[in-house]
Amino acid sequence: MREEERSRTYYIHTFGCQMNQADTGIISTLLRNEGYKPAAAEEDAGIILLNTCAVREHAVDRIENYLQHLQGMKKRRKDLLVGITGCIPQYQREEMFFLSPAIDFLAGPDTYRTLPSLIEQARAGARLSALDFNAAEMYEGIDQERPGSISAFVPVMRGCNNMCAFCVVPFTRGRERSHAFSTVLKEVRQLAEAGYREITLIGQNVNSYSDPETGRDFADLLAAASHAAPKTRIRFTTSHPKDISEPLLRAIAGHENICNHIHLPVQSGSTRILGLMNRGHSVEEYRGKIDLIRSIIPGVAITTDLIAGFCSETEEDHQATLKLLSDVRFDSAFMFFYSTRPGTLAARTLPDDIPEQVKKRRLQEIIDLQNEISSKLYEEAVGAVVEVLAESESKRSGQQLMGRTATNRVVVFDRAGHEPGDFLDVRITAATSATLLGTAVDN
Ligand code: SF4
Repeated sequence: MREEERSRTYYIHTFGCQMNQADTGIISTLLRNEGYKPAAAEEDAGIILLNTCAVREHAVDRIENYLQHLQGMKKRRKDLLVGITGCIPQYQREEMFFLSPAIDFLAGPDTYRTLPSLIEQARAGARLSALDFNAAEMYEGIDQERPGSISAFVPVMRGCNNMCAFCVVPFTRGRERSHAFSTVLKEVRQLAEAGYREITLIGQNVNSYSDPETGRDFADLLAAASHAAPKTRIRFTTSHPKDISEPLLRAIAGHENICNHIHLPVQSGSTRILGLMNRGHSVEEYRGKIDLIRSIIPGVAITTDLIAGFCSETEEDHQATLKLLSDVRFDSAFMFFYSTRPGTLAARTLPDDIPEQVKKRRLQEIIDLQNEISSKLYEEAVGAVVEVLAESESKRSGQQLMGRTATNRVVVFDRAGHEPGDFLDVRITAATSATLLGTAVDN
């Protein structure tokens, strides 16, 4: 490829959550609209973008390591441009330029429309950043580019107003704002017509969705999305316990194509710790929501997020978390130990006083208990016939496919003539703590 041609090709590495994956699709469309072309691999690209995540220290370390690799590439290729987008530059701001000479420009989640101009100015030797918050920016009219054709993420809002003490999101994605009801429905219809089999409505806290035009809430939006794409599975993530409402649960129970799975982060089983985390609810209130969910939605799967070793966490607080896991029996969980995020409420007001080896020991106890619970729950599915949406070939063998149930459980099964994108019934024959194994049932 001629150098000039290559200079207008880009490659994006995406780190972090579904919102970042959706933003990568928006960035790609914005660059294509300006005549840039996606490269198949970073070696073929004239511009490399890292779309970053700042949620934990580990995520930031990864970027620092990757920048060393890019610095090496730039030694060999003087024309290569490197840009950092997403949550880390929004949070570390221009300080990031000191992190590595490889960085040519920075852009935050609200400024992606400036990328073409940042690129051209970087090509002329300027090292610039675009890091303003812009609550009006919803990238309306920018069709998100999507990998694959089976599952699609549809952002229904941006930002978050909940100031959870450990979280950087409000400082990287700004204030909460919702997409127009009509815009979301139009996108859902278009995706269903394009043949997508599953649509996930995404946001940092989708339950606080509110249509800027009519004030309609998330329960209304979910029901409308279900009607707009009746043959498509509808999912949503992430929920905040304080915003779980009965109308929302009735919308899920009342529409067959809305998946009976709710991801409901709890973070800790101690009301004292939840208070320090500024989560806005007690453990008793959380247990009440769990009971309400299970009373309204039969067979619902509930998953969660947990943080071990938050500031001042005692052994008693930790035991309360283990007790909550034993009582609630989550289907599965994302589990981490606390790492301070500079600038957050916790970093400014609470000492990170739990020794790392104690954090790691408590995290391991949480993981061991949750894996035991998941194993038992998954084992109970053996012998059952479940509906699966086939998503891809299984990593284990091309003779097998991987898919998921409506309750978001991963199923690996013998192909038996099926293809990714098929909905089919699978008889479960075996289980691990994270995967169901089975055979396709001929209907
Ligand atoms: S709800 Fe809390 S944890 Fe979730 S994104 Fe908002 S501030 Fe962060």
